[in-house]
Amino acid sequence: MLWRLQRSPAEGSRGLLAIGLSLVFVLVASATICAEEVVMTYEEAIARIPERELPDWWVGDLDTMRAHLDELRPDDVRELAVSPGGHPILLVTYGEHEPTPRRANFNSAIGSRDESHYVDREARSRPVILLAGSVHGHEVEGLTGLINLISVMETGSDLRGTERPRLRELAGACRLLIIPAGNPDGIARFVPRALQGMEQVDLRWWGQGAWTDGTLIGWLGSKTTHPMTEDRVRFLGCYFNDEGINPAHDEFTAPMGPEAPAILDLAREEAPDYAALLHSHETPPLLIRPKYVPLEIQEDVLRLAERTRALYEQAGLQYSRLFEPEAEAGPNPPALNLTSAVYHVSGAAPFTFESPHGLVGDERWGEWSFDDLLEVQMLLYEAIFTHALEAKAAG
Ligand SMILES: [Zn+2]
Repeated sequence: MLWRLQRSPAEGSRGLLAIGLSLVFVLVASATICAEEVVMTYEEAIARIPERELPDWWVGDLDTMRAHLDELRPDDVRELAVSPGGHPILLVTYGEHEPTPRRANFNSAIGSRDESHYVDREARSRPVILLAGSVHGHEVEGLTGLINLISVMETGSDLRGTERPRLRELAGACRLLIIPAGNPDGIARFVPRALQGMEQVDLRWWGQGAWTDGTLIGWLGSKTTHPMTEDRVRFLGCYFNDEGINPAHDEFTAPMGPEAPAILDLAREEAPDYAALLHSHETPPLLIRPKYVPLEIQEDVLRLAERTRALYEQAGLQYSRLFEPEAEAGPNPPALNLTSAVYHVSGAAPFTFESPHGLVGDERWGEWSFDDLLEVQMLLYEAIFTHALEAKAAG
């Protein structure tokens, strides 16, 4: 089936469009490469962006992010790297840095059967938490969450004006490493600034982009070509930096772009206890099983996932499903992605978190208002800080 998206003022065409969309959703069901069959132009993708006013506390673009970060003390903001598009990858820190003597890198220390040659976690008084947002540029729910968390740290309230004393207290007992925008080039390409209320076809366009003939690349298709060079695409999706690198699938021992190394260098330097890479997708939120890490680390992340799910339940928010720890196996074993790589340079318990975008078009995705999307982030952070502090207290 080849479904060609055309906009026309005629009501009949709109009806056809609606039927076509329904058909696509029935056939596609969820994220599959069938989305490749949709053909769009950039103008059509722009015309599909609803006329709306985003909440003033939403952060879906670099200028808004910079305006908030410019209010911070300059010493609290550090430039880790510069993207191919010329945008800084920025780090905001809270809490004291507590270095411990280092005689070896993580890998070698593990080889010696004593991690303390790399980092003595017990000697540190506070847990270290790394939070990286928008490694995929259109997944701005994490960016919004982290700028709101920074507001809580600075004022006690999120940007919406909700006081969050518990979150402030928990966060204040940790060392926080916040990278609000892990892929600023991708964010700069993301015109809608939010996918809430939009459809899966919009996610596919803005996320993975379109081949030169206008067919959507889709989720699996986006991984078939790396770098995703400009000559192959009509629109370079926000997964990628301006040189077509998807930081989640960089070549970690021979880096292709600056974004993944910025995150990994920070992890190596700071040896976080927990590292959350904040992504977004169609369905309700969840923590994804970290791949190629010891089962004990997976089980710890599972306990954090259970804690997150419990907070969501209390708030009346859905959680997708809990993962089961397992060893990698099978004919199509998982990729060792950026999340896994964080463990292998730092020993952190790493995980990918997936927020909903608030898309419409499939009742299984649930309904997510902008307020819900903020709450999803705030409660996740509360769960991480609580979990990390309890683990620290338990020694
Ligand atoms: Zn993602």
